[in-house]
Amino acid sequence: MTDARHRLDAVQARITAAQRRFGPPAAGVSLVAVSKTFPAAEIAPFLAAGQRVFGENRVQEAKDKWPDLRAAYPDVQLHLIGPLQTNKAREAVALFDVIQTLDRDKLAIVLAAEMDRAGKRLPCFVQVNIGGEEQKSGIAPDETVAFVARCRAVHGLEIAGLMCIPPEGQPAGGYFAHLAMLAKEAGVSGLSMGMSGDFETAIAMGATHIRVGSALFGHRPPVSA
Ligand SMILES: *Cc1c(COP(=O)(O)O)cnc(C)c1O
Repeated sequence: MTDARHRLDAVQARITAAQRRFGPPAAGVSLVAVSKTFPAAEIAPFLAAGQRVFGENRVQEAKDKWPDLRAAYPDVQLHLIGPLQTNKAREAVALFDVIQTLDRDKLAIVLAAEMDRAGKRLPCFVQVNIGGEEQKSGIAPDETVAFVARCRAVHGLEIAGLMCIPPEGQPAGGYFAHLAMLAKEAGVSGLSMGMSGDFETAIAMGATHIRVGSALFGHRPPVSA
């Protein structure tokens, strides 16, 4: 058994155990394999093992790595999980299938225009700064419901759900529960929350998408995400 297959099986076992323990959500959990910082050669074994949903946090890095991988595996689904500058929106729309980091009107306007131009509509998650952290991207929790409504009604975007990265070094459960509550208020069903260290908790709180990097690919050099 390859290392990739082994690690995928181990994460899948954790997902199944969490679902069994907390009761499976209606639509199951989508595993987004976060391949940021890892070269194509280390991603290929995961594709060969059947993984198809991946997350990258930088547009340029995705542009360098993914066109060839996608040519080999056309059914890949690539999620942007890092901050997006408006001047990279055109490339992001060309490269990605889902944008998880929509967090401001200016970006919503530019993304909508670029999607029109490209003749496609990518599902988006609204990123919420759930811990109200100074340095973190994301819309403020108390502005989230109105922002989702604007994205849909004014900007014409397809909002699949909410996404968050809770503050480091604190129990994540309360933040995940808060995000789930906001999603319900906003009328969206998707919940992208939970990473290698806490995705069982996220599943317990209703995650539909978990973003797992190091549990699959191993440790990354400690650079800022
Ligand atoms: C890097 C990253 C992850 C994956 O984190 P791990 O702890 O390695 O699983 C998930 N979400 C986002 C937004 C990231 O930048």
